[in-house]
Amino acid sequence: MSATRIDGKAFAARLRERVGEHALEFASLAGRKPGLAVVLVGEDPASQVYVGSKGKATVAANMESFEHRLPAETSEADLLALVERLNNDQAVDGILVQLPLPVHLDEQSIIASISPDKDVDGFHVINAGRLSVGQSGFVPCTPLGCMMLLTDRLGDLSGLEAVVIGRSNIVGKPMAQLLVDANATVTIAHSRTKDLPAVVKRADIVVAAVGRPEMIRKAWLKDGATVIDVGINRLPPEPGKEKGKLVGDVAFEEASEVASAITPVPGGVGPMTIAVLLRNTLVAAYRNAGFDAPEGL
Ligand code: NAD
Repeated sequence: MSATRIDGKAFAARLRERVGEHALEFASLAGRKPGLAVVLVGEDPASQVYVGSKGKATVAANMESFEHRLPAETSEADLLALVERLNNDQAVDGILVQLPLPVHLDEQSIIASISPDKDVDGFHVINAGRLSVGQSGFVPCTPLGCMMLLTDRLGDLSGLEAVVIGRSNIVGKPMAQLLVDANATVTIAHSRTKDLPAVVKRADIVVAAVGRPEMIRKAWLKDGATVIDVGINRLPPEPGKEKGKLVGDVAFEEASEVASAITPVPGGVGPMTIAVLLRNTLVAAYRNAGFDAPEGL
């Protein structure tokens, strides 16, 4: 058997297209575009690339992008003051502070200072709480994107066994919560889990969010499992090459021999993250302007 390749890139492109259309509708209702403010502190090269591509994607989706690039030595007080300004700016619907922050800045206090109604990353404790008790808020983009791919592929997840590997606040925990809410039977596995291969073996759905290249092997998987690979890992470069290959947490080629469907890396979960960020910003715009957000996004 050879698994179906779940094309996150194509799914994300369709989602961005829909968001862009709704953003135009929003503009004609509200008299302004939805706005996303992205704050970058310091010169981390990967973060600079992410912020640049978020800005371009925002504009391409007919939204306003506000970029704030601050020097690495920015004080906590100055950063908090900027967030406060953005909280009070009516043109800004979503605020994203790019992580990681330089070590002298406390990430938790900065996230806590963002208005929960503009927290389109879904990292604020209020939004984590809302997700946990089933109120509408903002769900972190990567797990929400994984969920969209899963429901598109499988439809109803009721009663399916799901194993989430990883328990981070931004991927593993919200992913498990979304799966429980969709009536799956969920296990969260992590670095202290005993006999991980045996735990993974019972899963109809495997979501891998670990950050270890090709850790999950073919022999661990149940026949016909659906595999969502969140991991993004760069292998050491081959001789003569400048950059190593990007791989996921799952050994893609061999896993494809037993899984029924699997996301590739790159081109699976990765593109969903930005698409869902735009989706969350659009929803924030509708809510902040006092309208119902469009259905089916
Ligand atoms: P994290 O480092 O915060 O968490 C990793 C988790 O893996 C931890 O909960 C840990 O308990 C678990 N773990 C570590 N070693 C393990 C082992 N040997 N067996 C089982 N579990 C183990 O990472 P994160 O932020 O959740 O990200 C996970 C991966 O997903 C990374 O590769 C990251 O780059 C990637 N990621 C991708 C996207 C995307 O847009 N596609 C977004 C976020 C994260």
